[in-house]
Amino acid sequence: MTARLHVDLAALAANITRVRATVGPAELMLVVKDDAYGHGLEPVVRRAAASGVRWFGAFDVRTGTAVRAAAGDDARIFAWIAASRADLDAALAGRLDLGVGDAELLEELADAARERGVTALVHLKIDTGLHRNGVRPENWPTFVGRAAELEAEGVIEVVGVWSHIAEASDAEDDQARVLFETALGQASAAGLRPVLRHLAASAASFARPEFRYDLVRVGAFCYGIRSAGGPPAEELGLVPVARLEADVVQVTRDEVRVGLGALDGLPSSLQGRAFVGTPAGARSLRSIGDRESVVAGWPGATATDIVTFFGPGRRGEQATTDLAELIGTIGEEIAVRISPLVPRHYDGD
Ligand SMILES: *Cc1c(COP(=O)(O)O)cnc(C)c1O
Repeated sequence: MTARLHVDLAALAANITRVRATVGPAELMLVVKDDAYGHGLEPVVRRAAASGVRWFGAFDVRTGTAVRAAAGDDARIFAWIAASRADLDAALAGRLDLGVGDAELLEELADAARERGVTALVHLKIDTGLHRNGVRPENWPTFVGRAAELEAEGVIEVVGVWSHIAEASDAEDDQARVLFETALGQASAAGLRPVLRHLAASAASFARPEFRYDLVRVGAFCYGIRSAGGPPAEELGLVPVARLEADVVQVTRDEVRVGLGALDGLPSSLQGRAFVGTPAGARSLRSIGDRESVVAGWPGATATDIVTFFGPGRRGEQATTDLAELIGTIGEEIAVRISPLVPRHYDGD
């Protein structure tokens, strides 16, 4: 293996500080789904917890359980995908906060909590237009009414009300927020007093103060990944945390072969489009094979040189979102695709 992903934990901590300063007094929930966006769950969670992050967004219960092991007893861990009764039991055992956007799931969770003699920590999800699990506005009043009964019984505690928005257009997000506000009013009318209202992810948490409420769920910006089509990372005060690099394996007349390819998670559609960082600055990424890529050469290239595929740009390489924009995707996708077999190296700890 001649490639590795360097993860700069000091940069992660700096981004976390920057995000908290921007969104405060709203609290930061660090989203760590997809192995912390490919950066490695455990080191990321440990460093974030040491930096004072209290809330983690885990996606599923399995990830939530792994976060509990890494972050310790004091962390609050939010998971919003529970697929089975076994998941609900694991969530209760791990004292996870669960996102619930389905009336049937709420009953199952209440049953599981009743049997264990515990109180489930619940964040009720309203569907504000994305149509990814969430209770439709027309069913919401009944749903929150039932939640209030279960809370009175002591089997659940409604900690939060939340939703997820597209962050693709301000107009659509505004419409979603109107639905969210209505849902909050109805929850209150049902007698619920959720202390955590949460709606925003990275983009809205910076650009739209009225979307911050009590808690923001931020992944991308904490890893220094800007939004596609959004302001540059420097302008946001963020630095890329990950740097993907590989060794030169062969130098020919005007080309250099490098030990990273499509099977390592480099999208082959980047060939002929992207620039990589070299000791001589930016060079064109000419082609991408299974395990190797070909880069335009530079004077004096040797087999001890290193090529950077994405990172903070110090050697001419592009950022993940720059690469993503070349092929119509988002920066997170570039980071998450890097094979787990590419070793992660941690600095700045
Ligand atoms: C992934 C995700 C986030 C974080 O989104 P970013 O744009 O990476 O900050 C927040 N909330 C939910 C529900 C998510 O799935």
